[in-house]
Amino acid sequence: MPHRRGDHAVVLGASMAGLLAARVLSESFERVTVVERDVLPTGAEHRRGVPQSRHVHVLLARGASILDDLFPGFLAEAVAAGAPLTDALGRVRLLLSGHRLLQTDVGLHSLLCGRPLLESLVRNRVRALTGVGLVEGCDVVGLAATANGRRVTGVRIRADGGAEETVEADLVVDATGRGTRAPLWLEQLGHGRPTVDKVRVGLGYATRTYRLPDGAMGKDQLILTNATPGNQRAAVLSEQENGLARLTLAGMLGDRPPTDPRAFDAFTASLHFPDIFEAVRDAEPVDDPVPFQYPANVRHRFERMRSFPDGFLLLGDAVSAFNPVYGQGMTSAAMQAEAMRSVLADGRALTWRPYFRALARAVDPPWQISAGGDLAFPEVDGHRTPAVRMINAYLPRVHEAAAHDVRMAVAFIRVGSLVDRPEALVRPAIVLRVLASRRGRRTAA
Ligand SMILES: Cc1cc2nc3c(=O)[nH]c(=O)nc-3n(C[C@H](O)[C@H](O)[C@H](O)COP(=O)(O)OP(=O)(O)OC[C@H]3O[C@@H](n4cnc5c(N)ncnc54)[C@H](O)[C@@H]3O)c2cc1C
Repeated sequence: MPHRRGDHAVVLGASMAGLLAARVLSESFERVTVVERDVLPTGAEHRRGVPQSRHVHVLLARGASILDDLFPGFLAEAVAAGAPLTDALGRVRLLLSGHRLLQTDVGLHSLLCGRPLLESLVRNRVRALTGVGLVEGCDVVGLAATANGRRVTGVRIRADGGAEETVEADLVVDATGRGTRAPLWLEQLGHGRPTVDKVRVGLGYATRTYRLPDGAMGKDQLILTNATPGNQRAAVLSEQENGLARLTLAGMLGDRPPTDPRAFDAFTASLHFPDIFEAVRDAEPVDDPVPFQYPANVRHRFERMRSFPDGFLLLGDAVSAFNPVYGQGMTSAAMQAEAMRSVLADGRALTWRPYFRALARAVDPPWQISAGGDLAFPEVDGHRTPAVRMINAYLPRVHEAAAHDVRMAVAFIRVGSLVDRPEALVRPAIVLRVLASRRGRRTAA
């Protein structure tokens, strides 16, 4: 049973990370107030504060299972609302590093819900929690703190056109996403700024929604092809609710997918594998392509700061935001929420360093996968440790082995779904399988 940690917690931002933080904090605080700049829609609608919601958002199996744990019956509710819950390998066609991975049911389930629907389902669950309130249409302008800056005592907010007011809190959790102003606030309180790890990828996205002809994807519900050094184009076609499918095209290092419909089709036709083009060729588009730019993977190393105010924590993209082609952001927020829950359940005093260390352990796997993976591209700037070089040389071999050895495909998808840590792929038994798979094919040839 979690310990009581105080009377009032305030969460900044009511997107996925903020909502999950509110759920976790509701176990340890009498009252939780979530402050959000947008006026929130009642249903599954796009909103200004989450511009990425027009693009494919896959909730990986690990994230799906954490949400179902935090909100019992959540996945059944999402399915009842029309969202496909799909076997992460059995009905997902992975075309990676030029290889077609073998498919089999693995019993891990990804949720292929449109982002507005997913967020509205989580928001409704949070609204129903005792002691949790949402304050909408209110901008967070800064923190309130003791004169020496050692303790955050609340947050300064301003409603649209209104005067600034201070909301007092025992704990403030910043979940305002990639645009967080926490580094500036920490500096103003005299703690300096956190160091930031940044891996620039110059990613461009363009997304279009379709009604597919029956059977266009075969038995599959998602088709994904990745970018590789020398081929900077990636794409994911995913079933969504309401019988629709969404296609997101992605280009690394400035190779931006176009939004002109004919050029969008031409980019789709240029993908390494024809599968996605063939699936949408005779489909009915229901909107025009919309763009998104994503410059870099960004990770704030709060756990490495020398000092930090009490009464203040962060969660979600505000801590670490990943190249979205790996589909990890919401699952990472869920894993961070899980880490926050275990720190709060621990009987010891709630202090920042153990919290951020626990968060770092949760962030490491998706960071290794996305930022580490992006360093496989020679044009991407960044420090390549020997381990990163080794993994990036090894991973295409894992993909190759997974095209011939179904156990390798399962091992890979468990890591890709953030169920197993990346280290699982370098266990001796797995490395031997990768080598044996190559040798076997060479001998056969
Ligand atoms: C193009 C794209 C595609 C993606 N695809 C996937 C995917 O397939 N799978 C996946 O898991 N993740 C994906 N992600 C990542 C995912 O969207 C985020 O990780 C997820 O939304 C969690 O982010 P967050 O809640 O921390 O921040 P955000 O979603 O950015 O939300 C921040 C919230 O804070 C509010 N806010 C900001 N400033 C203030 C302020 N001053 N005062 C009050 N409120 C404020 C905003 O209005 C917003 O509601 C994708 C991201 C992008 C950009």
